[in-house]
Amino acid sequence: MSNTANSHWSFRLTRIAGIDVRVHLTFFLLLVWIGLSVWEQTRSQTAVLQGMAFVLTLFACVVLHEFGHALTARRFGIRTRRITLWPIGGVASMERMPDDPKQEILVALAGPAVNVVIAAALWLMLTAADYQPVSVAQDPAALFIDGGAFVYNIMVMNVVLAVFNMLPAFPMDGGRVLRASLALAMPHHEATRRAASVGQTLALGLFILGILYNPILVVIAMFIWLGAAGEAGAEQLSHALHNAHARDVMLTRFDTLSGDDTLARAVDLTIHTGQRHFPVDMGNKPPVSLSQDTLLKAVRSHGESDPLRALTLPVMPVVTPETSAETLFRRMQSGEVELIGVVEGDTLSGLVTLNALTRYLQLHRP
Ligand SMILES: [Zn+2]
Repeated sequence: MSNTANSHWSFRLTRIAGIDVRVHLTFFLLLVWIGLSVWEQTRSQTAVLQGMAFVLTLFACVVLHEFGHALTARRFGIRTRRITLWPIGGVASMERMPDDPKQEILVALAGPAVNVVIAAALWLMLTAADYQPVSVAQDPAALFIDGGAFVYNIMVMNVVLAVFNMLPAFPMDGGRVLRASLALAMPHHEATRRAASVGQTLALGLFILGILYNPILVVIAMFIWLGAAGEAGAEQLSHALHNAHARDVMLTRFDTLSGDDTLARAVDLTIHTGQRHFPVDMGNKPPVSLSQDTLLKAVRSHGESDPLRALTLPVMPVVTPETSAETLFRRMQSGEVELIGVVEGDTLSGLVTLNALTRYLQLHRP
C-alpha cells in the first residue's frame, strides 16, 4: 500500500517511543456504526458510550500488539515509521523485516504475545475479584452493564486477537512464523512458496466455511488469499535479484542538487532529464533525498525561488556497491525508502530506486 494514500486519509493521534500512532479516517465510521447499532438495540445513551468505550479499549490493545512488533524489531536495529489503526486492525510500517529467520520469528510472535499477556493479566484481575462470567448469549445486555463484564469481554477479545493473528497464513503473524520456521531448514524463496500454499489452502477452507455459515469468513478468506499471493509474488522478484549487487542495478548518470539550489532548478531537471529522485547535498549534514512527489507538494506550498534547504527532507540511506540487490529490494518494496545512495569511499557513485530494480529484473529475467 502506498504511504501517501495512508497519510492522506489518516491523522496523527500521538507519538509513543518515537513512533507515530495514526488513525485512518474510516476508523471513525466504525465507531459511528457501532454507536448506531447499539442505539438501535438498546435506545440507551449509556450503552452507546459503553459500546464505544469497548471498541476504543479493544483498539488500544491492538496498538499495544503493534508496539510488540515494533519494539522487538527495534532491538534488531529495524525502525518503524508509524503505526496506523484501520477498522480491521493495526499496521506497523517497519522499514523492512529481519533477514535472520530467528529474528523474524521473534518479531512476529511479539504481537500476539502482548495479547496473551493482557488476557492473562485481566484473567488474574477477574479471578482475584471472584467474577462469575455472564454468557452474552443468554443476556446480550450483560455485555456492558458492569465493569466485570467489560473486563471479561476485553479478555476474551484479546484471546481472539492472539488466536486469529496466529493463523498460519500471510498476512497474519502466524504466516510469518511459519515461513521463518521453514526458512531455518530451506532456502528463503522455497519457504515462502510453501508457506503461501499453506495460507491459500487455509483461505479456501475458510471460504467454504464462510459460504456455509458466515459471510465475514468469506471476506477474511479473500484477504488471506490475496496476502499469500502477494507475498509469493514479491518473493519471486526478490529471489530473481539474489545474485545481483548494488553495482549491477544502480543508476550511474544522475544529477545531485545542493541545499542552495532552488525548487525551480529541481523542477527544471525533472522536466528535462526525467530524473525523479535527487540526492541533495546539504553541506556538512548527511545527504537527503528529494522525490518527485515531495517536489510537487513543495511547489504548491513554497515559492519556486525558495532554496531546497527550506524543505524537510529524509536522510538518504547509503550502501556499498557489494550490497545484495535482494536486500535493497526488500527495503524499497515497502515504499518506506525511495532512494538509496551507493558510495565508494567518499564518492556517491550510484543511485538505486525501485524503478531501477524493476528495470533490471525485466531485462535479466530468463
Ligand atoms: Zn501482528
